[in-house]
Amino acid sequence: EFALLNEEIIDRSQAKVDIEDRGYQFGDGVYEVIRVYNGKMFTLTEHLKRFADSAESIGISLPFTSLKLSEMLEELTEKNNLQTGNIYMQVTRGTAPRNHLFPTGNVTPTLVAYTINGVRPLENLKSGVKTILTEDIRWLRCDIKSLNLLGNLLAKQKASEQGCFEAIQHRGQEVTEGSSSNIFMVKNGTVITHESNHLILKGITKDVILDLCFKNNIPVQERTFSLTELEEAEEVFLSSTTAEVMPVIEIDGKKIRSGIPGHLTRKLQDLFEKEIEKQCGA
Ligand code: PMP
Repeated sequence: EFALLNEEIIDRSQAKVDIEDRGYQFGDGVYEVIRVYNGKMFTLTEHLKRFADSAESIGISLPFTSLKLSEMLEELTEKNNLQTGNIYMQVTRGTAPRNHLFPTGNVTPTLVAYTINGVRPLENLKSGVKTILTEDIRWLRCDIKSLNLLGNLLAKQKASEQGCFEAIQHRGQEVTEGSSSNIFMVKNGTVITHESNHLILKGITKDVILDLCFKNNIPVQERTFSLTELEEAEEVFLSSTTAEVMPVIEIDGKKIRSGIPGHLTRKLQDLFEKEIEKQCGA
């Protein structure tokens, strides 16, 4: 197995960072997860753009252009012979004596990427998943794909301890997003999902789904929706790079309709699969 450490692709076991790396001490960095199907990266351009945007929003300038980075990720994918799985990539502000202040002088960011084999979650995609509700206790810049994930981890752990796949977070009455996914509901045949502002991550899968809705004349709205609306929803699904278009069949022990994935959810799953085929020929 190989890993990317700064500009070098090296043996994974040799890829080490310093104990004063600011990612390790402060979570001072950002990350991306890119899905690979059939040896090809899905929505690569979008992930590279969000990576650069996230880094810029906290004042980290990437050590490479997006083009160079895409070439290195491609090389990594090939060297590891990754067919279906994920690329994990992160950049931190670099290594410097521990201090809350950003280091001054010539501190270079630490960039790391490696690959993980992983099949599509076909069983869950077919049957759907259970979820819980939990108050969103995170900070107010959830649009940054920050390494600081404690709020998300606590939410996901709570879901898992209750035998559920995901925690749907809400700020008071307002539904925001999952611990590692975006949330969609269907009301009167319209697909509704939280607008991409500072309270949620602008999911790349979410944007693919919105685009598929527009192109296929499926009514769609980006707006906040309430817990009451969620409870009365005709269908609910979540989206992420690894979960794709995932039906939600239960929230806090209550079945959504009959507990069977909904019609529009199925349709969007089909359209999403076609998009994978189109981009990755899988
Ligand atoms: N929200 C959060 C908090 C996430 O961690 C993720 C997964 N990266 C998403 C939404 C979905 O984003 P994407 O579709 O780009 O994977």
